[in-house]
Amino acid sequence: MYLISSHEMLKDAQRNGYAVPAFNIHNLETVQVVVETAAKLRSPVILAGTPGTYKHAGVEYLISICQSAAKKHRLPLVMHLDHHEDNTDIRNKIEAGIRSAMIDASHYPFEENIARVKTVVDFCHKLGVSVEAELGLLGGQEDDLIIDEADAQLTDPASAKEFAERTGIDSLAVAIGTAHGLYKSEPKLDFARLAAIRECVDIPLVLHGASGIADADVRQCIELGVCKVNVATELKIAFSDAMKQYLAQHPDANDPRQYLVPGMDAMRAIVEDKIRVCGSANRI
Ligand SMILES: [Zn+2]
Repeated sequence: MYLISSHEMLKDAQRNGYAVPAFNIHNLETVQVVVETAAKLRSPVILAGTPGTYKHAGVEYLISICQSAAKKHRLPLVMHLDHHEDNTDIRNKIEAGIRSAMIDASHYPFEENIARVKTVVDFCHKLGVSVEAELGLLGGQEDDLIIDEADAQLTDPASAKEFAERTGIDSLAVAIGTAHGLYKSEPKLDFARLAAIRECVDIPLVLHGASGIADADVRQCIELGVCKVNVATELKIAFSDAMKQYLAQHPDANDPRQYLVPGMDAMRAIVEDKIRVCGSANRI
């Protein structure tokens, strides 16, 4: 109940020219921050977890927390498998109740990427589960996967069209110059490439690595067809920085009901801000 696929949510964003923010969550407190903020601003949101997050928190625990949050706030929520690579793992989590998956085979050659994604699409679509895949390769680190910046590859528009058609995916993650994690230098986004991809691919496009990208650049990506904006690193930094500061000022603090609160407040400010940048408030 209440955990839905991202298919319709992203189609609505595409029709109406906004993006749904996808926030990476890790535990009860981070789910509370995202869902309470989404409910307050009436914004659709996607709660994303990498394999490492589901392993840390436990799939059943995390699903129960998200379902309870959706029910409490009467909010349809997408719980999403971010950067999953293993078919059996994806299948198990879908059987547990999740309705939105990313199969990331972007580090394989083109044909193998298509074959791996197609397999996942085939079983997911039978169960009403939406599938995101990636073409091109983002630099940086996501979970245990580290891609050297020299090996990063931008998405080729013509290949993107073929990839989307042959796999039947619901949304496509594109590599246009963003990276996972922190930027060492000012990122330069390839807007012309994004526009060219939009010209030939008609499914919703996804921007990974949006932490640290200027608001104006994210907005331009949305104008050029991005319908889902992933935010992870910025949330973690805001949470941990605020908590570190609190603990430095209160060296005797030992109560999680106190020392977690400044982290939650700092994360909430980022979530609110990203909802504003995505233009997703008052869409539900
Ligand atoms: Zn990503």
